[in-house]
Amino acid sequence: MHAKGSVMSGTVIDGKAFAATVREKVAGHVARLKEEHNITAGLAVILVGEDPASEVYVAAKHRQTVEVGMASFEHKLPADTSEKDLFALIDQLNADYTVHGILCQFPVPDHLNERRVVARIDPSKDVDGLSVVNAGLLASGEKGLVSCTPLGCLMLLRDQLGDMTGKDAVVIGRSNLFGKPMAQLLLQSNCTVTMAHSRTKDLAEVCRRADILVAAVGRAEMVKRDWVKPGATVIDVGINRFPHPDKPGKSKLLGDVAYAEAAEVASAITPVPGGVGPMTIACLLANTLTACCRANGLAEPEGLTA
Ligand code: NAP
Repeated sequence: MHAKGSVMSGTVIDGKAFAATVREKVAGHVARLKEEHNITAGLAVILVGEDPASEVYVAAKHRQTVEVGMASFEHKLPADTSEKDLFALIDQLNADYTVHGILCQFPVPDHLNERRVVARIDPSKDVDGLSVVNAGLLASGEKGLVSCTPLGCLMLLRDQLGDMTGKDAVVIGRSNLFGKPMAQLLLQSNCTVTMAHSRTKDLAEVCRRADILVAAVGRAEMVKRDWVKPGATVIDVGINRFPHPDKPGKSKLLGDVAYAEAAEVASAITPVPGGVGPMTIACLLANTLTACCRANGLAEPEGLTA
């Protein structure tokens, strides 16, 4: 299906609607696994401390996990949990055959080290795709688990463009979480990929060459109309929060792309909110399903992996 609606000249890529179709597909496979194999896919989420934004994310993950028929195992630990105790829990989940995906919600309190936490999770259950093993598998073109937000962007791009062979793709941002895996996925899709970052010279000029422009920077509306090649597909990953001008106490979200003006030249563009954002949890569920199938020696569902 094409997740679309019309604006000015470009097409709005409706990530909310597309994410719903991904969750529906996942739910169908989860039901089939139960019926045909008596297997219930399971996702364990660990939250250390009481960061309010993290609590909201973890609650959303729990709700959507249950909605697709998976088992959801929530582990809320106090903020002063030691590395030893956290690792003991991860080891227990690594060994638990009813748990197919494990994620630890970040950020963790300062006394814990995120890289060490990720490294402790069995790579075959690392459904956030953040481990060095999974990053290495992706870079080598081998099967692993792919970081959820770039996987979501790939799904939107595939739906929009089909075959991406030969297209010029520019990714702004080179984080391990997003930019690097996104660039690898575009490379695997036979794009010619440029990775741009804070030291890139003539960034606007580099962006203007892109048939596919992906922005993941964290600077509100940095990408202007004249950075966008006419007819390009623009994926805006940025989430920048500001106090809402009309609703006291609420926040307004802006992307990294100046949406209204970029939409006038792009052939398709993701809005913020409602574009890339909803794809992340949908892909977390897709990764958990993939991990479950692999753990049980079953064929993994098509269209839900890289
Ligand atoms: P990050 O780790 O802070 O990385 C930001 C990247 O942007 C860095 O590579 C940095 O370059 C580059 N950058 C900074 N200023 C720049 C400039 N002026 N020109 C060009 N490049 C510049 O951030 P991240 O985790 O990748 O996230 C990026 C954005 O995406 C954030 O707004 C985040 O909230 C959002 N995000 C959304 C989702 C979602 O929708 N679910 C998921 C992940 C991220 P250097 O490497 O040179 O410093």
